[in-house]
Amino acid sequence: MADSTKYIFVTGGVTSSLGKGIVSSSLAALLQSRGFSVTIQKLDPYINIDPGTLNPYEHGECFVTDDGAETDLDLGHYERFLDHPTSQANNVTTGRIYQSVIEKERRGDYLGKTVQVIPHITDEIKRRIRLLGDTGKYDVVITEIGGTVGDIEALPYIETVRQLRWELGRNCLSIHLTLVPYLKATGELKTKPTQHSVKMLQESGVQPDILVCRAEHSLTDDMKVKLALFTNVTRDAVFESLDARTIYEVPLLLQNQNMDGVVVQKLGLTSNQPADMSAWSSFVERLLHPSQSVRIGLIGKYVELKDAYKSIAEALIHAGVANNTQVQVEWIHSEHLDPSTVSEQLSGLNGVLVAPGFGERGFEGKIEAVRLARTQNIPFLGICFGMQASVIEYARNVLGKKEANSREVNPNTPDPVIDLMEEQKSVTHKGGTMRLGACDCALQPGTLASQVYGGAAVISERHRHRFEFNNAYLDDLRNAGMVPSGINPETGLVEVVEIPAHPWFVGVQYHPEYKSTVAHPHPLFVSFVQAGLRHAQSH
Ligand code: GLN
Repeated sequence: MADSTKYIFVTGGVTSSLGKGIVSSSLAALLQSRGFSVTIQKLDPYINIDPGTLNPYEHGECFVTDDGAETDLDLGHYERFLDHPTSQANNVTTGRIYQSVIEKERRGDYLGKTVQVIPHITDEIKRRIRLLGDTGKYDVVITEIGGTVGDIEALPYIETVRQLRWELGRNCLSIHLTLVPYLKATGELKTKPTQHSVKMLQESGVQPDILVCRAEHSLTDDMKVKLALFTNVTRDAVFESLDARTIYEVPLLLQNQNMDGVVVQKLGLTSNQPADMSAWSSFVERLLHPSQSVRIGLIGKYVELKDAYKSIAEALIHAGVANNTQVQVEWIHSEHLDPSTVSEQLSGLNGVLVAPGFGERGFEGKIEAVRLARTQNIPFLGICFGMQASVIEYARNVLGKKEANSREVNPNTPDPVIDLMEEQKSVTHKGGTMRLGACDCALQPGTLASQVYGGAAVISERHRHRFEFNNAYLDDLRNAGMVPSGINPETGLVEVVEIPAHPWFVGVQYHPEYKSTVAHPHPLFVSFVQAGLRHAQSH
């Protein structure tokens, strides 16, 4: 444990989508492998309180933490790279900052003073940044600032970084991630946008210590010298981040350039062990050189935007590596599935994964996908809405309750096998009001679920939903062959269903994808891919 927590700020320039989240996660993984305890935080400059109410088309997946925070998908990367849980404190938006300041103002905490961006908003941002350091749990806190330098809405954050650099002195470092574009016509990389971006950062009073240049081609040494000269950054602190074959390669590419060494030295951290990335390298090696492959269909209604299912896609990658298998994901739009198209659309798959979701659009297609997987003995994993679809499909086609549905989709269904929980009935506000975060689940011994989790009696998984399995139908479904193999010990709610007569059929009300990491691929995904392999071998 360091005497005092070190803070690293990561800003982005020139354009968005350069991969600040991946660079932050990669640096964190390198520092962690040197024996430091590290956490990463994301500050998002938008006015929503959190991304929970955002349409996935806007913002990709909403990642959920153990403590029930609905957060930016970058937190998923942080957890996957660090194998360490994040919390509410790891994602803060402008909306939340203003909400706190306005609540204080209403309480009279400002004693009649005029409330202003500086110092009140910047003080609140500082408080949120220091919250993680003040836990005493971390040697290093990496704070990623969303958006791009020069954005109007990012200004208070950059100003906060400026102030903190004065306050923290050597305990703080500023990393600027920028784009070095390649002009095909002249065959050249161009450093000018980076020079401008750093100038803009300097105009706000922040001098970066480290530059990370995202580029399609390697920067020459001359270019690095030139960038160092123009930006007041030492030559050894100009790094390149080239397009990698997989995001999991990025830590190794940065390690090859000794980025962790430079960071440790600049922060005055005493590192008593070199970065040991051997387990990580072997993960990447296996990922890049699989010995077999399976085809898994991911059925959802946001498949045009793959970020909407980020954690599921990554969990499948982890599970593939655990099985030395390449998982080829076929992204299948549930709106395109009906009884006449489903067998063609799903043909050749070794596994069917029906994704989480909300609302009526595309839901009947999900039920068709379940029906096909169930009747054709294709391994099936249903997550949240996908699990609910599997219960509805069973009620309709095995119990013969043709109008069975979730009350979310048809409020007038005569057989609401999926229904609203009592405590949800009075909820009117949308933000942060679902069943959110970690809940215990007791697994019934002897079931597939119990076997998947290595015989564990009780597991903990994260939730994000309003509707639930309706226990009024429990006996009927059980008698018809659908086994409730995981039950919430506090509420009696069904969290896992399975069909023992099927080779591998599991529906989970929770989201296992949030807990899969490089170090610990999730057992449910590992077992699902294994079942897919068995299917591939026998077909
Ligand atoms: N729409 C469903 C519910 O609210 C499932 C949510 C989900 O898949 N995350 O219960």
